[in-house]
Amino acid sequence: MKVLAATKNRGKLGEIAQILGTSGITVVSPRDVGIDLDVSEDGLTFEENAVAKALAWHRASGLPCLADDSGLCVDALGGRPGVHSARFAGVGAGDRENYELLLGLMEGVRTRSARFVCVVALALSEDTVITAQGQCEGVILTAPVGAGGFGYDPVFLDPASGKTFAQLSDEEKNAISHRKRALAALQEKLSGMGIAGS
Ligand code: IMP
Repeated sequence: MKVLAATKNRGKLGEIAQILGTSGITVVSPRDVGIDLDVSEDGLTFEENAVAKALAWHRASGLPCLADDSGLCVDALGGRPGVHSARFAGVGAGDRENYELLLGLMEGVRTRSARFVCVVALALSEDTVITAQGQCEGVILTAPVGAGGFGYDPVFLDPASGKTFAQLSDEEKNAISHRKRALAALQEKLSGMGIAGS
């Protein structure tokens, strides 16, 4: 099955392509199909946003579309930045501004537990959208460490390895991440439905 990854985020795109690499699903990017689209992400939940993105890109391309809505939920901040992770420090803010704002808010805070959450939505048609969720527990550091990944990876410590997501190799991150877990759950649903490429 050929699936359009409904995202312009290069970090997400690379991870989705790598995670689904051996699944029988061929991932194409918006650039591959020559479509550019901006979908407003004003939903209150990851699921609402993921479904809206998957359907919008499906309508524009006619292809099965896979959208990812994800973010970082920090316990001490009542789950923020959550669905606002990409624009936490304001519209147009970069990854560094976002995690620096987070570190500032977390200064002196002892409870540092957090999780990355990812909801993926696969729009096969206007009426058939399959969703799945994955999450990954971690700890917010007091300063960034590591140069890989994207987004909040440098400040998110994976307790099992003792490394931030920005210190893990792509393969290591993609073996344990919220995105990997969401895509694995999606593949399980697809195979339960007898859909090819799962
Ligand atoms: P959205 O799903 O386009 O609303 O954006 C998700 C945002 O959450 C990204 O821009 C990052 O700031 C953050 N995020 C999601 N997944 C990851 C990840 O795997 N590592 C680091 N940050 C992430």
